[in-house]
Amino acid sequence: MNMVKSRLMSRSTLSSTIIGVIPQESKDDQEDDMSSLHSIGTAAVVVQVTGTNWPRPSYTLLVTGLCRFKMETLLQESPYLVASVTQLDKLSEDFDEFTKKHGGDLDNLADNFREQAGKLVDMLDISIPVVAKLKKMLENLPSQHLPDICAAIVKASYAEKIQVLDAVDLNERFKKALPLLMRQIEGLTLLQKARKDRVGVEIVARKKGDPFGRPGNMKRALNKISTDFDDDDDADSDEINDLEQKIKSAHMPEHALKAVMKEIKRLKKMPQQMPEHAMIRNYLELMSELPWSKSSKDILDIEQARRDLDVDHYGLEKLKKRVLEYFAIRQLKNSLKGPILCFVGPPGVGKTSIGRSIAQTLGREFHRISLGGVCDQSDIRGHRRTYIGSMPGRIIHGIRLVGTNNPVFLLDEVDKLGKSLHGDPAAALLEVLDPEQNHTFTDHYLNVPFDLSQVLFIATANNMATIPAALLDRMELIQIPGYTQEEKCNIATRHLISKQFKEHGLTAEQLQIPVDSTKMIISKYTREAGVRNLERKIGAVCRAVAVRVAEGMSKSKQEKRETPKSEEKKQVINNSLPENLSQDATTMAHPPEMPICIDEAAIKDILGPPQFESEVSQRLVQPGVAVGLAWTVMGGEIMFVEATRMDGEGKLILTGQLGDVMKESANLAMNWVRANAKKVVLTFGNGKSLLAGKDIHIHFPAGAVGKDGPSAGVTIATVLVSLFSGQLVRSDTAMTGEITLRGLVLPVGGIKEKVLGAHRAGIRRVILPKRNMKDLYEIPNNVKGEMSFIFASQLEDVLNAAFDNGFPALPMEDVTPSKL
Ligand code: ADP
Repeated sequence: MNMVKSRLMSRSTLSSTIIGVIPQESKDDQEDDMSSLHSIGTAAVVVQVTGTNWPRPSYTLLVTGLCRFKMETLLQESPYLVASVTQLDKLSEDFDEFTKKHGGDLDNLADNFREQAGKLVDMLDISIPVVAKLKKMLENLPSQHLPDICAAIVKASYAEKIQVLDAVDLNERFKKALPLLMRQIEGLTLLQKARKDRVGVEIVARKKGDPFGRPGNMKRALNKISTDFDDDDDADSDEINDLEQKIKSAHMPEHALKAVMKEIKRLKKMPQQMPEHAMIRNYLELMSELPWSKSSKDILDIEQARRDLDVDHYGLEKLKKRVLEYFAIRQLKNSLKGPILCFVGPPGVGKTSIGRSIAQTLGREFHRISLGGVCDQSDIRGHRRTYIGSMPGRIIHGIRLVGTNNPVFLLDEVDKLGKSLHGDPAAALLEVLDPEQNHTFTDHYLNVPFDLSQVLFIATANNMATIPAALLDRMELIQIPGYTQEEKCNIATRHLISKQFKEHGLTAEQLQIPVDSTKMIISKYTREAGVRNLERKIGAVCRAVAVRVAEGMSKSKQEKRETPKSEEKKQVINNSLPENLSQDATTMAHPPEMPICIDEAAIKDILGPPQFESEVSQRLVQPGVAVGLAWTVMGGEIMFVEATRMDGEGKLILTGQLGDVMKESANLAMNWVRANAKKVVLTFGNGKSLLAGKDIHIHFPAGAVGKDGPSAGVTIATVLVSLFSGQLVRSDTAMTGEITLRGLVLPVGGIKEKVLGAHRAGIRRVILPKRNMKDLYEIPNNVKGEMSFIFASQLEDVLNAAFDNGFPALPMEDVTPSKL
């Protein structure tokens, strides 16, 4: 069957007209070259005519072939060809008659041919309608038609097809067409094998008309087959089948499987070109990859867990204790229900890395989800699949990545969750964290529940105050206030240095950092609650040494090359060793002044001049300066509060980006000093106001950083008293505490961080509110041992402790107008 555009012998009423279709001798011959007409053609009946007269007459005919004919004489050339012809065969005959007439082993040939034709069709995807039709047609077709039909279907050259057309004898026709059929089967077998490796085999689409006039449906079947050969369609259906297999082996729960199978059905019916096709496929791939029933086995040996945690992290006793309790309950009850642990502390104190080592200890997969800046609900819960580019939320994405349904998920920086028009991510997170709800967590993208109840969630935050209240309610906070200098030194020597050595490919034989040098790096080059900067500095030292070591190595290699003859014998031994072994041996033989020991000079050389020097004694050399203590997300810090007096109208000027609460406590302190001026011997005998004709300016340093809170009350009051009295505040003392108008000192938060901050800055004496005494319990003993604490319940207590000679600062008679 074929659709042929050719020279027509009759053009009047084309439909149902019998025409003769004559091929040209060669594919490349000109259409109007009569001499190139082949002598044998096909008589065909026109089934359908399509085409147009404009801009040029151009028609396409759908014809059904009837029989072969031989062109005897060309009678007319224009307007269409007319020729006298002789009919060569008569295909409507019974095959038995054929066999009788043609004799030979036609029977066997036909059987074999039919078998091969069946084989070819079986290799095609029967789900394609046209293939199914082809199969049915081949089954019902009389044997004598088979060679012509198959020659039209298979890929063959123009000349090969002409040969089949010329084979008037049926025996010969079978013999001519069979190799073509076999070749096609072979090609298809190879292709199917190769398809697995995505090797496309190109089958050239027919450009020229087929010499056989056959109905057009078959041509389409042929095209379909051809496209099957080189197209992705078949590969696609293979992939869908693979996907189906994967889904079946994912052991997903009933409800999920149902949803997925529905999508598979849709996918099968959908052309690959549709954008939805890719979307459904991505969805199904995700569904098949999710670990619905794949979990890792917990290693729950409390003793071992304790050891592992100790090996990975120095200190952090409280945290480790709580984690071990968690494990113990898990071991006894086999359930993880309970509050989510949330590690709160400044950056670099090991919150993330302890999360990782908990996962390792438990033998679970670890995944960190950074929540900083997340302000869209769909970040957590995914986008609905109706959107182009929709994807699952971070939780399901993480589950897919780790490949087990019971990993340790570290929700990093929960305190930095945002809010936007697109919903509140904290609310979505609530569903994730709540043990009552998370066994049916439904990501919008999945649209079916996924059980998160086996996931161990750990959260981290820098600032407890900004954790959304609903989440805070579900969490158990474990505070990590920051490390003391000594702890940092231990962390450095036990963990950070070896870690950096490993990262830089150095060994202890090449580099040594003595404890004193570590201490120097800690105190002079870092001032942080955590150890991240310290790690960076050690990294910088390692980098510098690595260059020296590498230089030394290349130098010793060069020396080796230039070795005088007398040493050649020794070299021969080395050269006979494997290359790297001999290199190592040589390097060891010529170490570049190793191990390189990092001393004070080397540190200065590598890290530059010290970045932090204790400035306390320098700053407190004049009245009107005191050291306060501040809590920041980076840990505790000291803060120099300064006040000065100048001619004016009695105004109080405050600078340093203060919040309202802080401004109020400055006013409070000022008014307390004014009200109690007499008591604190700050006014003249004549009762003149402190502020008469003067402005007071109080400044808080780090002016660009916003500050707020009431805890600077005592410091401001002390600064003012110092300013008015002209007395210096003790340079070894820092203070914190809220004040009331009546001069009571109230407790404040962040004592641990503040005390550690003061210790880091070299301050050894701290004035604290009396009611904060209990908070000292959690401060490491070594810090407590090195520091002294003064507990104040009244401002007078603070002043007494802040000035060298106690309170009152000055005897009454010393107060002269010039001093105020
Ligand atoms: P955070 O998450 O608190 O900001 P990280 O967990 O990223 O901090 O820790 C920073 C680096 O400090 C990591 O390399 C970590 O191993 C190291 N570190 C912090 N605390 C300790 C500790 N107690 N023992 C050993 N290493 C620590």
